[in-house]
Amino acid sequence: MTWCCLNGTMMPIEQAKISPMDRGFLFGDGVYEVMARVDGRIRAKSLHQARLQSSLDAIGLSVSVDDVFAGVDQLTEKAGLLDAKIYIQVTRGAAAARDHAFPSKISPTVFLTISEFAAVSQKPSIAIVRPDIRWRRNSIKSVSLLGNVLLMQEARASGAHEAILHRDHLVTEASTSNVFVIRGQSLMTPPLSDLILPGITRHLVIEMASQIGLNVIEEPIHVDSLPDADGVFVSSSTRGLMPIVELDPGGQVGNGQLTQAFMALQAAYDERLHHHE
Ligand code: PLP
Repeated sequence: MTWCCLNGTMMPIEQAKISPMDRGFLFGDGVYEVMARVDGRIRAKSLHQARLQSSLDAIGLSVSVDDVFAGVDQLTEKAGLLDAKIYIQVTRGAAAARDHAFPSKISPTVFLTISEFAAVSQKPSIAIVRPDIRWRRNSIKSVSLLGNVLLMQEARASGAHEAILHRDHLVTEASTSNVFVIRGQSLMTPPLSDLILPGITRHLVIEMASQIGLNVIEEPIHVDSLPDADGVFVSSSTRGLMPIVELDPGGQVGNGQLTQAFMALQAAYDERLHHHE
């Protein structure tokens, strides 16, 4: 049975009902988080709390993040899953009428769900490379994901596993992850801006890379430079570090093999998964 928590009430997911007037449904007016629970602990919980707060602030939605996470604790206890994926969605709520501007009286909808999940090392994968067709505020973890959905669908339909995106020929991120490039002992990733999500895994990778002696460079990356990198990988809470060995267009990345630097990072990440607060 899949458990969820809707506005503070725990229930099997089949029993959850949300109004069609919910602004999350009508406008995509809401934000979300996805977290991995490993060995009974939410990985990088405080970073997810801070990012949820910043997404809520960015869309002018006032909800107590502490209360949301108290719900998460109750839900994890109820579900009893030690390794799980936890989804949090907060929308502006259901209004009487459909109006783009915020209604004056409205109470947010807080929806939490938990499902079974095991963090596993990802296989060498293929990415399509496409113009970033999304809006310009991607640092907000918004539930309006139509651009990401269309890009991931295009990747899947062509037998690939991700879509790496670029704006004016500069890499932004991927449809569900952040992008890293390895060249020798250097690890490059696009700098934080409105155009990319400040990934929690990105944050951890940067910390670990410095610890294992890689030179971290947060600078714009030209999309044409991807194929001749030594390695490319993408990062996210649910997929961890996923090596990209083939690009479409672009062909093979480097010599098509995983680099020593990637394997060292992967080992450090696996170790960290089991020890971070
Ligand atoms: N970028 C996008 C567009 C994402 O959807 C995600 C995760 O879902 C990420 C980056 C990676 O973020 P995190 O490492 O916090 O999971």
